[in-house]
Amino acid sequence: MEKRTCIDCNNEQPINNFYIKDKTGRYHYYCKKCAKDRAKKWQKKNIDKFRKLQRDAYTKWSLEKKKYKQKTVNRSSWLKRKEELGDSYIKWLLIGNIKRDNLSLSSKDIPKDLILLKRKEQMLKRKIYANN
Ligand SMILES: [Zn+2]
Repeated sequence: MEKRTCIDCNNEQPINNFYIKDKTGRYHYYCKKCAKDRAKKWQKKNIDKFRKLQRDAYTKWSLEKKKYKQKTVNRSSWLKRKEELGDSYIKWLLIGNIKRDNLSLSSKDIPKDLILLKRKEQMLKRKIYANN
């Protein structure tokens, strides 16, 4: 039987221990065992790269998802507060007025009565708009 020396392990082996190249029909320079080892090494090396890429992509994706989710949550809870005329929404309206009038008042300093009055005002406005 024809023999061939593997250029990797330098062992002379029967030719059927070598793979045949698909295109040329010639035998590989490496024996099957070395070819497998090389393939494994190559795979391992590239799997690390691949896994890193995959991890990075996943991290990026989950961050985006988190950001998006946060945005939607913020938005929906804000709409809910607006709908229910919650304190933070009323304060936000009042602060807008305060700023327009060039007064300095932080949201903590807004008296409870003012919030209640503003809420009543908003409720009246909504009634008026609903009737029109
Ligand atoms: Zn070999």
